[in-house]
Amino acid sequence: MYQTTLGEDELYHCPFEGGHQCKHKPTKLKCNYDKYVDSHLRPFKCKNAACSGARFSSTTCLLRHEREAHGMHGHGSKPHLCIFPGCERAVPGKGFPRRYNLFDHMRRVHNYTRRALPSEAELSGSRAGGKGARRKRKALG
Ligand SMILES: [Zn+2]
Ligand SMILES: [Zn+2]
Ligand SMILES: [Zn+2]
Repeated sequence: MYQTTLGEDELYHCPFEGGHQCKHKPTKLKCNYDKYVDSHLRPFKCKNAACSGARFSSTTCLLRHEREAHGMHGHGSKPHLCIFPGCERAVPGKGFPRRYNLFDHMRRVHNYTRRALPSEAELSGSRAGGKGARRKRKALG
């Protein structure tokens, strides 16, 4: 889609050359040229060394990547918080490192099944500390 622009000087010119975002000098190397294009199309770069500069087209993508790959953005390494208000595991920083752990917790502690989201009544009824949670009845259809 972006045609390689090999100039008369036999250098690769960034297709965005002249744009206010572009500070790329014409290069002899195709691989440099590719980096130029990439940096325009996906300007958001992961700063984590482990990723060796993974790039993303939007901050949303980058943030999601950072959260999922590096557990960043305020939740430490435990980004999966319990969805039940009042539960000590619903507090940022006290969640679970893996989704699996979270669901395991919610199943054991809150009698939560993955099939259905808890109802309002259940949410307000299941405060933390309630060991021996009752089986929920098949009341509502
Ligand atoms: Zn450029
Ligand atoms: Zn990364
Ligand atoms: Zn919980």
